[in-house]
Amino acid sequence: MKADLLRLPLECPSCGDLLEGIGTATRTCPRCDRSWQMSQGKWWFGGETSVVTGDATDSFKSRLKLHPKLYTTLIDLISPVYPHWISERRRLRGRITPSVLAVDIGSGNTRIMDGVVNVDLMPYPNVDVVSDADRLPFASDSVDIVFSIAVLEHVPDPHAAVAELVRVLRPGGHAYVFVPFMQGFHAAPHDYQRFTRPGLERALRGLRVIRTESFGPTSGLVWVLGEWLAIPLSLGIAPLQRVLALLFQTLLSPLKFLDVLFRRMPGSENISTGFLVVAVKEKGSPPSVAGGSH
Ligand SMILES: [Zn+2]
Repeated sequence: MKADLLRLPLECPSCGDLLEGIGTATRTCPRCDRSWQMSQGKWWFGGETSVVTGDATDSFKSRLKLHPKLYTTLIDLISPVYPHWISERRRLRGRITPSVLAVDIGSGNTRIMDGVVNVDLMPYPNVDVVSDADRLPFASDSVDIVFSIAVLEHVPDPHAAVAELVRVLRPGGHAYVFVPFMQGFHAAPHDYQRFTRPGLERALRGLRVIRTESFGPTSGLVWVLGEWLAIPLSLGIAPLQRVLALLFQTLLSPLKFLDVLFRRMPGSENISTGFLVVAVKEKGSPPSVAGGSH
């Protein structure tokens, strides 16, 4: 099942008016008289015109991301991070139907589930809407489920991105927001900040937190230890440090499965690799104002 991109409830990123032309590949703003086309299977609302990469590891990752199934399997198996996301996908199975609009903001090239609309500032092949996270082209209160998975650390203004995420979510709609906590610097192409658990829960203003999942302390340790071992062993050669860090993280990565046990134990959240918050936009919320983040 693929989402019908021609029927997305899109609004003008300049003035916030609903765009006219639903069902066609051209949308026009009745107020600004600007229009947007769908081309190469995507709506283009800002973002980048081609895929931009950061350092060597990151450009290697970007190339891998062009093979999304392989990339997801590799990440689940050999990344330092415990793949808690597998059980979240299982919980969500059957919930994304043709009548449900689910949007993954900052998807990269990975489609986490069929039927999810992928939004990213990079025009990867699996991206449906090219847009910045702090000015989404979706109508206010129009989206049923929003995913923001390991994205807020990469945006320069995470509070503006959260405000947009909340604006487009309909009352009663759910947000799934994952942020890293104990993870090394990873540009994709930028890396600006980390959140603690309470920091993330507070940042999601306008949403009620239903549950927060800690992904576990061993994952954080594996990430950092791999980087640390590579510092002396690379003998001062920077590219070798990147390669060795990846190698050590991969070799150590089976340890992350300890987090099945450890992630709920006392003290583990102090060094958790990251947190997933599942939150709901309350039904009584006042209607969101278009462009409310500005
Ligand atoms: Zn307009």
